[in-house]
Amino acid sequence: MFAVMEATRLETLHLAHDPATGLKAIIAIHSTCLGPALGGCRYLAYPDQTSALRDAARLAQGMSYKAALAGLALGGGQAVLIRPPHVASRGALFEAFGRFVETLQGNYITATDSGTSSADMDCVAQHTRYVTSTTRSADPSVQTALGLFAGLRATAKARLGSNDLQGLRVVIQGLGNVGYALAEQLHAVGTELLVSDLDPGRVSLAVEQFGARGLDPEGIFAVPCDIFAPCGLGAVLNPASIAQLRCCAVAGAANNQLASPDMADELERRGILYAPDYVINAGGLIQAALTHRGQDAVAVTAHLARIPQRLAELYGQAQADKRSPARIADELAERLLYPD
Ligand code: NAD
Repeated sequence: MFAVMEATRLETLHLAHDPATGLKAIIAIHSTCLGPALGGCRYLAYPDQTSALRDAARLAQGMSYKAALAGLALGGGQAVLIRPPHVASRGALFEAFGRFVETLQGNYITATDSGTSSADMDCVAQHTRYVTSTTRSADPSVQTALGLFAGLRATAKARLGSNDLQGLRVVIQGLGNVGYALAEQLHAVGTELLVSDLDPGRVSLAVEQFGARGLDPEGIFAVPCDIFAPCGLGAVLNPASIAQLRCCAVAGAANNQLASPDMADELERRGILYAPDYVINAGGLIQAALTHRGQDAVAVTAHLARIPQRLAELYGQAQADKRSPARIADELAERLLYPD
């Protein structure tokens, strides 16, 4: 346990077990040096407790980096609830989780993530105010897609000399909440779209609505394009997929796109500009953080505008140093989190 904490530089780790509801929860707090730790709550089955702990720690660390570079006075945290094979009452389990979050007195603020819904967060909210993304909040994926679109423009500017996306060819991997909304915005400005999803229904819809061309998920990396946008799952950028890429830039919403940190260097070596995932996909976090503080939509929109600015800074520095923007982003986040 301490090895995981040490490797990810976790500040604190909290465990809860409630036999009455079946709750087995881990809350990993990576950092509170910039503010309270905000991060999602996963409710998934894990092969063992170590995998659950590692997932919580890794995601909490990612949230710290994301909040730091988004200029939010927030730290990073993550909750993982180990999903039991059977649960008598899902609502009661999430209420028990809400009581657990409350014991941390605001050091951790929770939100939806894989396997959890706004309805679950409503149960949490019965016992704590340190919760976002309830059914009363706006869908964060809308803001994530807006930030992503602005980030694609900044990426095109840095790599191709213009932020005009008209006529560019963009491949989108994953047409979920974020990927589909991105496709809609790109279609509106005249981008040529090539799309794939594991769900053929999502692809058909994009073909019908945006004139997109559907692609087989298997062969997607080798398709020539200007920008490749991973908006499905993480770890898609590995030696095999990078070797196939025929694009100028990779810029997408998926979390943890790089299978390992050195994949950023491999992209750089191949002359492919990489938009650090936790910078370009921060829109949802910005919305959750600002609305939890009681700020309005105008403030959220103003803060979202910092995403392309931050990317432009990173690209400029990366070009000067001849290094990957991902390396520059990590170093910048670490300087903010560990000033000494
Ligand atoms: P989602 O679950 O709504 O959509 C993901 C889509 O990707 C699904 O339609 C799925 O079928 C598809 N997919 C998965 N693997 C695929 C593959 N190999 N090939 C093609 N399609 C594939 O998720 P979302 O909310 O749209 O988020 C997309 C990604 O962005 C996730 O990695 C998520 O963690 C990340 N992200 C989302 C937000 C947000 O606000 N929703 C914020 C930050 C990061």
